[in-house]
Amino acid sequence: MPEKILTLENGMRAQLLEDFIDRNEIPDIERSDIWIINNDNACKVKDFLITAIRHPDPKVFLKPVFLQKELKKVYKESNNCNLKNLSDGYIQKINIQNKIPYIRFILNFIKKLDNTSIHEEDVLKRTLLYYYSRNKDIEHYESSGSLSGYCYPRIEAHYTNITDAYVKGRDLLHHAFEHDLLRREYVDTSHICKKCNSGFLNYREECPKCKEHNLQVRVLIHHFRCAYVGTEPRFQKGDKLICPKCSMELKNIGVDYDKPGKVFYCLNEICKNEFQKPLVGVHCINCKTEQAPSELNLEKIYNYKLTLKAINEILN
Ligand SMILES: [Zn+2]
Ligand SMILES: [Zn+2]
Ligand SMILES: [Zn+2]
Repeated sequence: MPEKILTLENGMRAQLLEDFIDRNEIPDIERSDIWIINNDNACKVKDFLITAIRHPDPKVFLKPVFLQKELKKVYKESNNCNLKNLSDGYIQKINIQNKIPYIRFILNFIKKLDNTSIHEEDVLKRTLLYYYSRNKDIEHYESSGSLSGYCYPRIEAHYTNITDAYVKGRDLLHHAFEHDLLRREYVDTSHICKKCNSGFLNYREECPKCKEHNLQVRVLIHHFRCAYVGTEPRFQKGDKLICPKCSMELKNIGVDYDKPGKVFYCLNEICKNEFQKPLVGVHCINCKTEQAPSELNLEKIYNYKLTLKAINEILN
């Protein structure tokens, strides 16, 4: 297949990457200024972008790479691929007119880096270089495909394992913050499993006596005449409501009886506890650990900005 390299109006050379993505192969970087992805296989595109992100050569991992807006719908159907956050975003056809200053800044910056290759494991340096070259903040992204539900896609792309992506990605951000390379801005508070950090949690009411969570909500009935209060099933006789204490029939709500509230009833045969205040238990869908809400790990989510110290370090 011939390489598809287009020279755009402004002299910018753009390479269409369809075949390279099929082969997950990095093309010769000197042949073009930018890459345009025109492959409709979201998973393959993701693999390619990750390969580029992890590449040691800054000319590769900082290369401007755009997705085609025409394929946005196709990509959206592939859950959790999150291609936008792993690239420079979408362009319409090959129109980069409004991105020229953005691209020029990146290309000039790459030139200044000479031929330094940056080790795959120096994720912090790679991250700082990338965000500086894009003049962007490190922003969180909400995704059900990530471990805790909140992720930093560009950083986490350096790790294959989902737990590593979370733990090492967060360590990196924390370390950079502690060393004054990043400042942060609070976004949200998240509760995650104490054992595995998953945010995929099921909260449910529990019986305080036996800890069973198979509960029933029962309506309370208050009979005015004799002041008896009990749950609805105790009054039900066929389709009538009969007071179990005084045996009178209840006819008009608000006149001879009312419903002052609800109680929980434990459906565990050997418990059958009735109670007003249930406990809340949390089940982790990811690792199956049961825990109380107070045991969950609490994590604050931030967006980050490069500090002057980080910028000075990058430029020297
Ligand atoms: Zn119980
Ligand atoms: Zn009664
Ligand atoms: Zn867990």
